[in-house]
Amino acid sequence: MNSYQLFRRSRLRLAIWYALVMSGILGLLGLGTTYALVQSKWNALEREIESIAGTLHDSLEPMLVSSRKPTKVLQKIFPDLCVSYQPCRPNSSLIQRHTLGISDQTTYYIRLFDHKGKLLAFSKNQPQRQVPHFNPKIWQTLTATMGDRYHQFTTILHSHHPSIPEIINHSHDDESWGYLQVGRTLSTFDAELQRLHWILILSFCSASGLIAISSWWLSGLAMQPIYLSYQRQQQFTADVAHELRSPLANLISTIEATQRLLPEQTEQIPILLQTIERQGHRLSQLITDLLLLARLERKDQFHQYQNCCLTDILNDLTEEFSESAIIKKINLINQVPRQDIYILGNESQLYRLFTNLISNAVQYTPQQGSIIIILEFQNHIATISIKDTGIGIPIEVKDHIFERFYRINSDRSRKTGGTGLGLAIAQAIAQKHGSKITVESRPKQGSCFSIQFKSWIS
Ligand code: ADP
Repeated sequence: MNSYQLFRRSRLRLAIWYALVMSGILGLLGLGTTYALVQSKWNALEREIESIAGTLHDSLEPMLVSSRKPTKVLQKIFPDLCVSYQPCRPNSSLIQRHTLGISDQTTYYIRLFDHKGKLLAFSKNQPQRQVPHFNPKIWQTLTATMGDRYHQFTTILHSHHPSIPEIINHSHDDESWGYLQVGRTLSTFDAELQRLHWILILSFCSASGLIAISSWWLSGLAMQPIYLSYQRQQQFTADVAHELRSPLANLISTIEATQRLLPEQTEQIPILLQTIERQGHRLSQLITDLLLLARLERKDQFHQYQNCCLTDILNDLTEEFSESAIIKKINLINQVPRQDIYILGNESQLYRLFTNLISNAVQYTPQQGSIIIILEFQNHIATISIKDTGIGIPIEVKDHIFERFYRINSDRSRKTGGTGLGLAIAQAIAQKHGSKITVESRPKQGSCFSIQFKSWIS
C-alpha cells in the first residue's frame, strides 16, 4: 500500500468514526428531546382526564343512592347515557357538559360499573372491544378492535344516600357504590407522536448526511498537517541519503584509487589519505548536525537551561572568527556593549547558533567586505544582529534558507563545505529558546540576521 492510499484509508476511517460519534450524540439528543416532549404531552393528557373525572366524580357522588337496581338509579340521574342490556338512545349532553370548553366533545367517554365490576351505563363513543371486562387499575391504555388506542382513568364512587330498606339493614352505608371510568381516544396523540417520529427520522437522516460530508472535510483538514509532515519526513530522508551518498562515493573511490596505486606512486598516498580524512570529517559533521537537529526537536531539555551571558558569547566568537576574517581580508566589527546581558538558555546551543550565523557571514562576504556583530538591550529585550556586506540573498528564496539541506547555490555551498543544515540548526535553537531568526537581505549588498531574546542586565 503506498502512502497516498494509506492516508486516504486513514482519512476515511477517521471520517467514519467522527460521523458515527457525532450521529450517535445527535441521535441520543434527538431521542431525549422527543421523549421529554412526548412525556410532557402525556402528562398534560393525563391531567386533563383526571380533572374531568374529578369533576364528574364530585358532581355524581352526592346524587347516588344504594339500590338493588342501580341501572334505574343511573337512568334517573343520567337519562342521556346508554344503559347495559337496553337499546341505546344516543344523547350526549352529560359528557358534553363536563368536557365542553376543555376538548373536542367526541374525544371523551365515560363508563359506570357497579361495585362487582358489572357495566351499568356508558357513553356512546366508548372503545369497542371484543371482550369488554372491568379492570379496576387506575390508569389503563386500551386498544379497540379497530386498533384505535384509548387511555382511561378509573375512580371509585361511594354512595352517601342509602335507600330505605338498606337503611334498615345498615349494610351499605358509605360503601363503594361502583366505579367511574373516564377515558379519551389517543388518535390525535398517536398522530402527533407519529408526526414527531417522522420529523425525528427525517431530521436525523439529513443531519447524518451533513455530518458525513463535514466529517470527510474535517478529517481531510486533520490529516493535512500529518500528510505534510510525512512528506517532509520523506523528503528529509531522501535528502539525508543524497547528502551521505556524495561523500561516501568520494570516500570509496579515493580508497579504491589508493588500493590501485603502483609501488612507484607511493608519494601520492598522503594526498589521498588527506582526501579520505576530509570526506570522513564531512560525513562526521553531517551526522553530528543531524543528531543535533533530532535532539533539538525533542521537548525535554528545558531543565538544562541556565543563565548565559550574551556579551561573553558574542565577544568570544568575535575573537574566534577574527583570524578567519583577517585571512579573508574582511573587517570584523564588534558592537557589543560593556554590560553583561543575560538570557536563560543552553550556552553550547547559543554558541552554535551564533557560530552558524557568523560563519555564514564570513563565508558569503567577499574580500574587503565587513561584518558587524551587534548586541542591543532595550525594555528587557536583547537584540543580536549579524550584519554583513556580502553577496546577499535573493528575495524569492529568503523563506527557504531555513529549510534543511536548502542551499541557494549548491555548488558554491559545497565548495565552502556547507551542508545546508547551518541555518536550520540555528533556527531550531532559536525556537527552542522561544525566539525566531529574521533576515533582511539585498543581493550584492549584504544581509542582516537578527534575533531577539528576553533578557536582563546584571
Ligand atoms: P550552508 O551550510 O550551505 O551554509 P546554511 O543553512 O547555513 O547552509 O545556509 C543556507 C543557504 O543560505 C546557504 O546556501 C547560503 O546560500 C545562504 N546564506 C546563509 N547565510 C548567508 C549570508 N550571510 N549571506 C548570503 N547567503 C547566505
